[in-house]
Amino acid sequence: MGVTMKLDKSDQLFEKARKRIPGGVNSPVRAFGAVGGHPFFVERAEGPWLYDVDGNRYLDYVCSWGPGILGHAHPQVVEAVQRACAGGLTFGAPTAGEVELAELIGACVPDVEMVRLVSSGTEAVMSAVRVARGFTGREKIIKFAGNYHGHSDGLLVKAGSGLMTQSVPDSAGVPEGYAASTLTGVYNDEASVRALFEENCGQVAAVVVEPVAANMGVVPPKPGFLEFLRCITKEQGALLLFDEVVTGFRLGLGGASAYTGVHADLYTFGKIVGGGMPLAAYGGRRDIMSCVAPLGAVYQAGTLSGNPVAVAAGIATLKILMDDPGIYERIDGRAQTLAAAFQKAGLTVNRAGSLISAFFVQDGKVENYEDACRCDRKAFAAYFNRMLERGIYVAPSPFEAMFVSDAHSDELIEETCEAVAAYFSGI
Ligand SMILES: *Cc1c(COP(=O)(O)O)cnc(C)c1O
Repeated sequence: MGVTMKLDKSDQLFEKARKRIPGGVNSPVRAFGAVGGHPFFVERAEGPWLYDVDGNRYLDYVCSWGPGILGHAHPQVVEAVQRACAGGLTFGAPTAGEVELAELIGACVPDVEMVRLVSSGTEAVMSAVRVARGFTGREKIIKFAGNYHGHSDGLLVKAGSGLMTQSVPDSAGVPEGYAASTLTGVYNDEASVRALFEENCGQVAAVVVEPVAANMGVVPPKPGFLEFLRCITKEQGALLLFDEVVTGFRLGLGGASAYTGVHADLYTFGKIVGGGMPLAAYGGRRDIMSCVAPLGAVYQAGTLSGNPVAVAAGIATLKILMDDPGIYERIDGRAQTLAAAFQKAGLTVNRAGSLISAFFVQDGKVENYEDACRCDRKAFAAYFNRMLERGIYVAPSPFEAMFVSDAHSDELIEETCEAVAAYFSGI
């Protein structure tokens, strides 16, 4: 497979990288393993465009896997970062910016009465799960197959084929004991969750869920599914944790709780909230968050937590979104236009707001991980490479969302639709 464009410098860099960095990349999916060929190395980015070291330009539908809702290098965000840098990169002491960002998050998502800033989504979910365990005094958690919550030990688990109750770690190096306290349900399947609660009565600390799943492609919750999770967690004395690392500030300023009307006890944010810098957050009910040290007994800390430069990027980004909520209408509309083009081409399309996925499955719906796994990976890889040749970069995996930013103009969206139509009609 592979592409026909010139990638000499990228290929040379990749060769060098592979000698020093496992797989040549600092996060596995960047290696293009699912689509053949080699990754391009980025030199710079601006608005909707990525430029590689060989001088190729790509219309970017990955947007750094979600953070880039405003497009790359938004002038106001860059300026805020530059100003912050000039004042010092890290202090390990509190700053006014952290208070401002905590207030902004709370203003957008009122359920987040208290919040802790951390440096990655992984850290946010790992910490929130610890808080849920500390608060409830219970050990087990329920997650869903195909939902990703970062790479912490206890969360790298999905269902072993067939038996939901038999948790098998997804990664080598995860102790079996960790996997054993992570129970895996089927997304959009109430019965699977009910069964897990019955078998583990009084032992479940939290249900952790992507309120709109975006890591097995986009899979929206069926009507009633999140309401059911809210109900059964309350009934069973467990907490509901919305992992909004993707959906937060993406489905709208209020994230999933505003979008769906269902309210969780704990929330995690990442990606957009850091405005392109390493920043994430977890928060929620005041009584629960009061368990966190130094107020309470759940320990969690970070040398670079609430880093002033990252906080500046987060504040600038949230302020732009709050000052111009029309952004959401625009990106949702563009995603809708793209969705229509994929539908016309015969693919199965899932969309929630500006999150969309075109699944290479012929027959019907994608409502859970098993459905998503039916996609034709070869057909996807061929499509990916042809789009890349045309200068359109979609995620190099069939299980990632397509992200639209405010920098993707209507004209660019139309051009993309034409490229999609041309590809699927064999032109
Ligand atoms: C990306 C992601 C994470 C992990 O965030 P990192 O910053 O990559 O550690 C956690 N949960 C969800 C839903 C994500 O999409």
